[in-house]
Amino acid sequence: MQFIDLKAQYRLIEKEIKSRINSVLEHGRFIMGPEIGELEEELASFADCRHVVTCSSGTDALLMALLAYGVGPKDAVFTTPFTFIATAEAIVLAGATPVFVDIDPDTYNIDPKKLEEAISRLKKDRTELTPKGIIGVDIFGLCADYSAINHTAKQNNLFVIEDAAQSFGASYKGRRSCSLADVGATSFFPAKPLGCYGDGGAVFTNDDELAEKLRSIRIHGQGSDKYDNVRIGINGRMDTLQAAILLPKLALFEKEIEMRNKVADYYTSSLNGCVKTPHVPDGYRSVWAQYSILADNRREIMDELRKAGIPTAIYYQKPLHLQGAFKTLGYGEGDYPVSENISRKIFSLPMHPYLKKEDQEIICEIIRKSGAL
Ligand SMILES: *Cc1c(COP(=O)(O)O)cnc(C)c1O
Repeated sequence: MQFIDLKAQYRLIEKEIKSRINSVLEHGRFIMGPEIGELEEELASFADCRHVVTCSSGTDALLMALLAYGVGPKDAVFTTPFTFIATAEAIVLAGATPVFVDIDPDTYNIDPKKLEEAISRLKKDRTELTPKGIIGVDIFGLCADYSAINHTAKQNNLFVIEDAAQSFGASYKGRRSCSLADVGATSFFPAKPLGCYGDGGAVFTNDDELAEKLRSIRIHGQGSDKYDNVRIGINGRMDTLQAAILLPKLALFEKEIEMRNKVADYYTSSLNGCVKTPHVPDGYRSVWAQYSILADNRREIMDELRKAGIPTAIYYQKPLHLQGAFKTLGYGEGDYPVSENISRKIFSLPMHPYLKKEDQEIICEIIRKSGAL
């Protein structure tokens, strides 16, 4: 059994993918070829967002958004410590300082109340840092609470970036992920809900001026032509080949979201009461980048599953504030107790649209036998 089975999907659309790749090989426009524009239009319509700027990865999508806002030294950007390293890494790469805010114990996303407190506290006593923005992370494919986050941002004159690397395809109060904040940044890393066959990402916004900046930043801060550079940017383009691969995958994606939700529904109904299953609040639809559960005896359960040939993974073993990379920020054990507590109990089960019913049953049976809340 596989944690994520990419081959099953490939078999379904092999012809379309090969024919798309072939047409790129024939036209030869490997950089910024016509598939890039075609994909950007499709993504914009999917997420109901005016502008989409594809790019080289989810990390670069975040970095480009931060560069577009011009953050730099002494600027604080608030985010959660319970995320992949890239979220806070991009803040540091842009020259700003991440300020962590603990998560909600049920959704594992940034706690809006603690966010408000953290902003007030920073304004009061850390005068060397100025609050500039917030990166909300949609962990495991479940959107953060953007009504609350955007409200707090407005009151404090901060920008909001949605780190939608795990949530492309999810929805929140009738709107699609990537369009829930000032800017959305997603990833098409192969293991994400919508993945290409290499690295890829995209930035989403309804702001015309910001979109123009993002397009410039993507190509070395390009101005009116190739050799006119008006700002510092990056080499952030998506390969034409990756856009060609994503197009047939996107056509299949809506159906796959349904299938992912079916797997998650089965897991939840079958495991409820035995381990802590994911909480999806009313008005939210997850895209299930991960199906993650909490158990005090996680090692034991993971061992039992491994013996039966079932892979599991831990997202995340170590919250970011305890990572060596952020040592200079001066955080320590006990600073974010909810994140720390969850990182000690959480692990993720195999999750992809083509996970067979009998495999789901075996997984749940093993967990029910070895699980205890
Ligand atoms: C995967 C991921 C990223 C980075 O995406 P890449 O395409 O791998 O650079 C950023 N944030 C989160 C939350 C992620 O899961």
